[in-house]
Amino acid sequence: MSSIWSKNPYTGEKLKEYTKDTDSTITEKLKITQSVQKDWANLPITERCNLLDCVSELLLERKEEYANLITSEMGKPISQSIAEIEKCAWACDFYGYNAEDLLADEIIETDAEESFISYDPLGCILAVMPWNYPFWQVIRFAAPTLTAGNTGILKHAQNVPGCAKALEQLFLDAGYPKGCFQSILAGHEEIENLIAHKTIKAVTLTGSEKAGRGIAETAGKNLKKTVLELGGNNPCIVFEDADLDEYLETMLQARMQNTGQSCIAAKRFIVCSEIYEDFISKFIAATKNLKVGNPKDSDTYIGVLAREDLAETLKSQVDKSLEKGAKLVLGNSKDGAYFEPTILTDVVPGMPAFDEETFGPVAAIIKAHDRTHAISLANQSSYGLGAMLFTEDMEAALELIPQISDGAFFVNDMVKSDPRLPFGGTKASGYGRELSREGILEFVNKKTVYLK
Ligand code: NAP
Repeated sequence: MSSIWSKNPYTGEKLKEYTKDTDSTITEKLKITQSVQKDWANLPITERCNLLDCVSELLLERKEEYANLITSEMGKPISQSIAEIEKCAWACDFYGYNAEDLLADEIIETDAEESFISYDPLGCILAVMPWNYPFWQVIRFAAPTLTAGNTGILKHAQNVPGCAKALEQLFLDAGYPKGCFQSILAGHEEIENLIAHKTIKAVTLTGSEKAGRGIAETAGKNLKKTVLELGGNNPCIVFEDADLDEYLETMLQARMQNTGQSCIAAKRFIVCSEIYEDFISKFIAATKNLKVGNPKDSDTYIGVLAREDLAETLKSQVDKSLEKGAKLVLGNSKDGAYFEPTILTDVVPGMPAFDEETFGPVAAIIKAHDRTHAISLANQSSYGLGAMLFTEDMEAALELIPQISDGAFFVNDMVKSDPRLPFGGTKASGYGRELSREGILEFVNKKTVYLK
């Protein structure tokens, strides 16, 4: 029977061995979810919301334990792991409080006696999830989707099996019926059969573009709905009037939090020429101040990447960008899974630091002749998750809204997710939305009811 070992990327230490699911245990889990789904869907929504409140309470009660697990398995600095768990509780609170309203029948006046939309669950939804926010990505899916009356099966990334198991147990401990939310420990090669299985009604993936293309193809062949939350190469546009004293720390955080391993990180800083030199010197100084260290220390801001191969990929992207003419002004050393905070200037299209997603603490700084050039560079990406603009000219920012092709546009703040707002991308960043009303309505049958 094959197994998965979790490993601490900071110490290199092997943590725990987990038994992988086999074909027969997967079939058993599919049977259980099938048997529980109808009763779960028939439970009054208030009861499902109450259970979600219990999840929130448990998350807060156990936040140190869960945060330690995240930090051990994927190297996130502990203070950021704690913040991740608190954010999970916030999402549960949001849906616990609002789901009943969000799922209420929507009356539409027609020539019928009464006509409305009824939001019914689809059944069992498969969630394929990444390691970078190993609790948040799962809760962001599970809180609305289960509360809408669906059941869930989680196929988590293979380097966070402990988080997958803890999440499964969390829902059981909160009082969810057995089978409502289960984790399958498997490689992604198992996903094709899972998607094809009649019990699985739809799939959500948070992960890379490559995984998105694979899953969309399989789901398409099987006519199953997908929501895809994929990679990003977010521009952070800095106009010449940006207030660097006020916002530089925000811009730095937008790139470096989670040691740069965030889909919505600011990956390309597109800076108007008048402010370019000033921006670079302030950005270098602020980056040098970041506390690098053991992810378990409460004051560490930059830890290690989640796996050594991720650091190798990043190094190769930086080196290739340097070969193509980018200038290294800070960093670029690698030691195991550690990658030093790095700043590249003179980055232009055609370099990996401009064209590709860099998943680690690497800031690519690009000079724009003027505002129009900056916007055109920002849109010059195959990705479309979110764009940030820093300016004191709110009128100009408002006029730019239609020109931004991403799923989000944040002015004078970093792109971030918030349970109250929809989250998702365009282009190679995927489609569909999570969070807010949009998120809870992704996996429901929007049924038209017409009473004459
Ligand atoms: P990944 O390699 O795509 O893995 C994500 C999940 O997909 C894992 O469970 C993985 O399983 C599975 N998977 C990988 N290749 C697959 C394939 N060909 N077919 C089906 N499933 C496959 O991504 P990652 O390295 O874990 O995460 C980083 C990526 O996720 C980045 O691109 C990041 O931008 C993106 N991301 C996006 C969002 C968003 O909200 N848009 C949020 C976070 C992260 P195995 O572990 O078994 O390979």
